[in-house]
Amino acid sequence: MEEIKVRRSHLNDFERCPRRFSYIKRGIKIRPQFQSLAIRQGSYLHSLISGIEEGIYFNENEQKDKMVVEIVVKVMKELELLPSDIKHEILYSNNGATGTLDLVSPDNRWFGEMKYTTKPDFYTNSFIAQAQLEWYFYLNPEFQYCYILPIRVPALRMQEVKESIEKFLSRLELDILKRPSFYFPKYSSERQEVKWGLKFYRHEFDMKQLEWRINFCIKLINYLNKIGHYPQHKANCLTPSECEYMSICETGAVSDTLYIQETQQAQETQQPQQTQVTQETQVTQVTQQTY
Ligand code: SF4
Repeated sequence: MEEIKVRRSHLNDFERCPRRFSYIKRGIKIRPQFQSLAIRQGSYLHSLISGIEEGIYFNENEQKDKMVVEIVVKVMKELELLPSDIKHEILYSNNGATGTLDLVSPDNRWFGEMKYTTKPDFYTNSFIAQAQLEWYFYLNPEFQYCYILPIRVPALRMQEVKESIEKFLSRLELDILKRPSFYFPKYSSERQEVKWGLKFYRHEFDMKQLEWRINFCIKLINYLNKIGHYPQHKANCLTPSECEYMSICETGAVSDTLYIQETQQAQETQQPQQTQVTQETQVTQVTQQTY
């Protein structure tokens, strides 16, 4: 049996749907051009902020959406929302668990998690925000506090007939500059460290509960791997957004047009157009820790 590490996204995907988790573990990925625009915009924003090029795909008709992200990032820099010496995309690993953090302070005392979203209120809800953040406290026992940093996706629309793209983008820029707290919840120019978002301290999180949750999922994963079957949670196919593996679940096959299989890329040219899905996953239990 192969042994793998547990990532935050793996755990979230498993809790959403075990079958989805099994596809991800097999290295099956939706091709970039079929990924939702919202996800690609979020990835683009992260790459612009971090300076780490990711080559995010946008088609001809999505150039405006791409430029909207560029305006948001431009204003973020103008307002100096982030400290200039912040570290980006830092990988942490602890006790068999791994995760990459968007932002980490130079002294490693705090971290930040950005969310480019149409529903920032969702993340300013403490209960939801904590579920997004607890994993990172688990990954690094040195973290003392953190920030959840929602960024509102602009809903401003271009006046298709009367307005050029340049005019629209400068109108958008002005709008963000005029009311930054609308786009960056809890914004204040007086704040230190990051200038928007919600702050949480380590003691607000139940690390024992998280550890229990991880171990529970791991036991289930190993059991499902043993019996060679990952059930489908169909109630979550469209929640919180449409699952990108719907085509596989509906047809029982992986279309090469829609998906890439990382683990089989070398043999890609020799594969038939469709491949049946099998499962193979083994994970290790997280041991007790003191926080
Ligand atoms: S389409 Fe539905 S059943 Fe299939 S993997 Fe996604 S969430 Fe699970």
